[in-house]
Amino acid sequence: MIERDVIILGAGPAGLAAAAELARHNVGKIAVLDREPVAGGIPRHCGHLGFGWNEFRRVMTGPGYARHLVETARGAELKLGVTALRLDAGGVIQTTGAEGAHTWKGRAVLLAMGARETPRSTRLVSGARPWGVMNTGALQQFVYLHGQRPFERPVIIGSELVAFSTLMTLRHVKVRPAAMIEAGPRITARRPGDWIARLAFGVPVLLNTTLLRILGQERVEGVEIDRGNGPERIDCDGVVFTGRFRPENALLTGSHLTIDPGTQGPAIDQFWRCSDPAYFAAGNLLRGIETAGQCWREGAAAGRIIAATLLGKLPPAQTGVPVHAIGALSYVYPQRLVADDPIDPELLFFGRVREATSGDLVVRGDGTIITFRKVDALPERRIPWPVSPKGLQAYKRITVSLEPDA
Ligand SMILES: Cc1cc2nc3c(=O)[nH]c(=O)nc-3n(C[C@H](O)[C@H](O)[C@H](O)COP(=O)(O)OP(=O)(O)OC[C@H]3O[C@@H](n4cnc5c(N)ncnc54)[C@H](O)[C@@H]3O)c2cc1C
Repeated sequence: MIERDVIILGAGPAGLAAAAELARHNVGKIAVLDREPVAGGIPRHCGHLGFGWNEFRRVMTGPGYARHLVETARGAELKLGVTALRLDAGGVIQTTGAEGAHTWKGRAVLLAMGARETPRSTRLVSGARPWGVMNTGALQQFVYLHGQRPFERPVIIGSELVAFSTLMTLRHVKVRPAAMIEAGPRITARRPGDWIARLAFGVPVLLNTTLLRILGQERVEGVEIDRGNGPERIDCDGVVFTGRFRPENALLTGSHLTIDPGTQGPAIDQFWRCSDPAYFAAGNLLRGIETAGQCWREGAAAGRIIAATLLGKLPPAQTGVPVHAIGALSYVYPQRLVADDPIDPELLFFGRVREATSGDLVVRGDGTIITFRKVDALPERRIPWPVSPKGLQAYKRITVSLEPDA
């Protein structure tokens, strides 16, 4: 058994920010484990600019940002090429790596394993399995890590912010996509995303368009789409599925930890604590996708909380009052309030909608309205529900709902 005061699982922005914060608080031995041979998480292969401004007041490329994060976390021990296979009660982790199988135990464990895009296999798109179908993450590895250009004229499926990361990646290797396809009536990323796609990248954006089939046997030769008038063909040699993120939760599904059905990540209280209080969680593992900067802030905040826990300064974990998302909200977090202390209301009390919705965001305790306000919500934006937890322990159940305007 390898014992550490804190074990951090995942060396992305969230995990490395937590490591830096914990090292600053001098809480003892900290180990960061990651299955990849290089630390930094997703930004390692986002070769374009756009990272670091909020955290470090510097604009960096993803790899530059990743290196900087590693530098800030040098007070922690970094163990790379180590994959966690199982989480057991009380902060015990089973791992495997080049040095063999090990059991680790942390007084506290931070889960920061990130999120991934939904692959083709679970999107139920018909057609054969030709070469040239991938997610943004795989495309970026081809381009930025291996210097390859996997295709000349792909189509991009989806229009979340990450689709623009795809556009920038393709531009880096001088590839102009045949089209960007969005099933909804508007682009999912914030405006002016559609203008950027059309004007800056010269890519047609097809809204209200469904992907019916991928054509080709060996390689992608085209796609069949429906814009409301029956099947049409677009010639292309690749398909990039973007977005529809979900937490990297394979380890959680086989574990004793409670998973929130809305976020698909671990259910936490307002101290970033999972259902087993030896475990904490931060970053994109909590819920699909946020920017690297937001994940970094969450990791740093969780690091401060873990430091307080180890110093015995945190209220004990208890069942607490459950919080549920209803109506147009697909999820809210934290999913439990265990004390009057709000901790980081600007960082932690969020929800998200499935589709663009305007209406009243209403917080209720056992059916009684505690607070409400008008919101115009888009699926790409987190919706804050900053409510003072003071007095909320008196309720049996809190609900947060978004009630659309009539
Ligand atoms: C394709 C893509 C492009 C993006 N582009 C941008 C952008 O341009 N700008 C921006 O701000 N944000 C961007 N993002 C979002 C942002 O970079 C990520 O959301 C951010 O890296 C999340 O940080 P994280 O620490 O939560 O997780 P990650 O960065 O995903 O790190 C998680 C780490 O956990 C490790 N891990 C997972 N499971 C295990 C296991 N079982 N054992 C050991 N290690 C494990 C992984 O190897 C990984 O290193 C992008 C995201 C994606 C997917």
